[in-house]
Amino acid sequence: MENIDQLKQFLNSPKKIVITTHCKPDADALGSSLAWAGYLKKYHHQVTVITPTDYPRFLHWMEGNEEVLIYSHKTRTRVQQHFDEADLVCCLDFSACGRVEDMEDILKASEKPTLLVDHHIDPSITPTYNYWDVEAAATAQLIFKLIVALGDKALIDVGMGEAIYAGILTDTGSFKHPSTSKEVHQIAGELIEIGVDTSKTHHLIYDNNTEERLRFLGYLLSEKLTVLPEQHTAYFVVTKEELRRFHSQTGDTEGVVNYALSVEGVVFAAIIIDRGEKVKLSFRSVGDFSVNEFANQYFEGGGHKNAAGGVSYLNLNQTVEKFLQALSEHKQQLTLVH
Ligand code: 5GP
Ligand code: MN
Repeated sequence: MENIDQLKQFLNSPKKIVITTHCKPDADALGSSLAWAGYLKKYHHQVTVITPTDYPRFLHWMEGNEEVLIYSHKTRTRVQQHFDEADLVCCLDFSACGRVEDMEDILKASEKPTLLVDHHIDPSITPTYNYWDVEAAATAQLIFKLIVALGDKALIDVGMGEAIYAGILTDTGSFKHPSTSKEVHQIAGELIEIGVDTSKTHHLIYDNNTEERLRFLGYLLSEKLTVLPEQHTAYFVVTKEELRRFHSQTGDTEGVVNYALSVEGVVFAAIIIDRGEKVKLSFRSVGDFSVNEFANQYFEGGGHKNAAGGVSYLNLNQTVEKFLQALSEHKQQLTLVH
């Protein structure tokens, strides 16, 4: 960040600060937001973390979770009020306004100073303070570095550290993605030094399944996985009826796409889910195939080279057709992989 001194100066006296992140926040989005909130509170800022939607139950253990304001029709007035009164709006782990869904108009109308902390490709937000780095494995990594850059590493406590660790853990796919740099491991090491129980954090996120979620996963794996060996592609299609039948909760389908990617020889994986008002698509890849470009070209989406998402307002069948058509347009590229 070029103007870190100005940010430090700005934060020198107590302010009203809104922190927001993308819809259906994952561990990186929520962990970054709560760790940044924890830091700001130490300087007696009045901080409100606002999420555009709810988020998975397996993130509720994070320190500060109970104070999160979740946007909905019911809370819209309160959310608006927080934005109106804010001296600073922090946008964490997203850089396209559309990612806050129904809160987009409120965010766009806000003319308050903004801080962007993010690692997604092609940001469309132009913030007052910019801490954006596409090389970072997680926004949580940037939050750690930002606090260090502000000279306050000593203020990172265990609660903040756990939230940061959770973000790094999940966005690196448990330290397995190529984004897992030496710096990532070093930060993880520093978090352990602070007192973060890494094993406990992992357990809280990954060993917190409801029986129904596991049975749903079993069903998807046995009944709904399509593998196209020639195109080195595998995908799931999930209907509304299936979501209902398995009482699917927010977060229940998170990570399912990775099972498709784990099929031997597969380099491109997708999950296509009928969410009613829209169809949501998640993409993963290994190697050179850019799912960010794929999501952007066909499904109004984006993300990272190897992990991205998008939407479709066609019905589920038409969306699957569009996906298969898009796939055939990349057939040569995908067939050549070995
Ligand atoms: P996931 O598949 O886990 O929901 O998302 C993978 C990555 O793509 C994340 O970095 C996420 O922020 C991004 N992403 C997911 N859906 C969308 C979308 O509709 N638009 C954009 N721009 N990014 C998305
Ligand atoms: Mn992230």
